[in-house]
Amino acid sequence: MQIAKLDIRINRAKLNPNPVRDALQTLSGAGNVELTLETDGGIRGTGDVYFGRVAGAVDALAALIEHVLKPLVIGTSPADVRGTHQAMLRETEYHGSSGLAMLGISAIDTALWDCLGKSLGVPCWHLWGRVHDRLPAYAMVGWLNYDDVEVQRICAQAVQQGFRAVKIKVGYPTLAQDIKRVKTVREAIGSDVRLMVDANQSLTTTEAIQRGRAFEDLGCFWWEEPIPADDIDGYAELAHALDIPIATGENLYSTHDFARFLKRDAVDIIQPDLRRAGGPTALLDIGRMADAFRRPYASHGGGPVQLNIMACLPNAMYLETGLLSPGSKLRLVDGCAMVPNGPGFGWE
Ligand SMILES: [Mg+2]
Repeated sequence: MQIAKLDIRINRAKLNPNPVRDALQTLSGAGNVELTLETDGGIRGTGDVYFGRVAGAVDALAALIEHVLKPLVIGTSPADVRGTHQAMLRETEYHGSSGLAMLGISAIDTALWDCLGKSLGVPCWHLWGRVHDRLPAYAMVGWLNYDDVEVQRICAQAVQQGFRAVKIKVGYPTLAQDIKRVKTVREAIGSDVRLMVDANQSLTTTEAIQRGRAFEDLGCFWWEEPIPADDIDGYAELAHALDIPIATGENLYSTHDFARFLKRDAVDIIQPDLRRAGGPTALLDIGRMADAFRRPYASHGGGPVQLNIMACLPNAMYLETGLLSPGSKLRLVDGCAMVPNGPGFGWE
C-alpha cells in the first residue's frame, strides 16, 4: 500500500462581520486547508488545518504542502507514518519545522493515520490501545466581547446541553473586570459546574500571579495561558507561586517544546493543539511523556482526531469543544464525549 495522490483544497472564509475576541486576537476567520491522501488501493485519508485569522495563510500553507512536503509523502506507505513524520521534520529543519511547516506536517500525519485505520477497517484508537471509551468535555463559550447578558445566556445553554464544565476568556484591562466576569458566569451556571479561565498570553507574570490568586479564591478550575506561550521562566514562576493549576500548550510546537516545560515544572495541565504540536504522532508522544510526569492532558480544540488520541492516554482529562450545533456528531453522556467508532478518524 502506497500513497499515490495528494490533493489540496483551499476554503477561504468570508470575513466575519461579528468576530469573537479573546485578550490577544480578533478571530475574523480565514478558512481552512483540506488535504486528502489516496493510496494505490483507493483508500482515502484526510487532514484539515483551519485558521481563525490571517488572510492568505491558507494559500501559504497550501504552497508549502505542495512544494515542500508532498514529494516526501508520495510513494510512502501509511504503515511507515512515523518514518514519514521524521522525514518531514528533517527536510523542513533548514527553514524551521515549527510555524506553518508544522501545520502542514500535522495535516499529512493526520491523513496518514486516517488511511492506516481505514485500510484495516478500524478506528485509530484500535491501533494504539484504548484506555477510555468516553472523555469529560467542556464548552469554550465565553468570548471576551460578549456582554453580561450574552455570556450568561450562552454559558447556561452549554449547561443545558449537558456540559459540566465551561471555559471563558478573561484578561480585561483590570482585575476587577475579570472578577466581575467570573461572578457573572457563575450566577448563570450554578455552583456545581466547573469554570476555567483563559487570558490568551495577555498578562505580565506579576499580574498573572495577582489574578491567579483571585481566580483561586473564586474556585476556578484552571488558569490558562496567562502569559506569553514561550516564557518558560514565567510559567515556572507561576506554577510555583499559585495553587490553581496552570494550563498551557496550545501555542507550543513539537514534542521538544513540551519536554522543556515538563522538565522545568512550568505547567500543571498540558493542552496540545493538533495542528501546532505535529499531528497524532506527536500528540501521542506528548501525552505519554506528560503521563510519565504525572501531568494531565486537556485537548486544545476537539473533534474525532483528539478523541481517538485521548482514548489511548491514561492521563486524558478534558476534551475542549464549543457549543453543540444541531448537526454535531459529538455525543455527550453524563458530561462526557463518547469516543467515535468509525474507521480511521470517522465519527460513525
Ligand atoms: Mg486557550
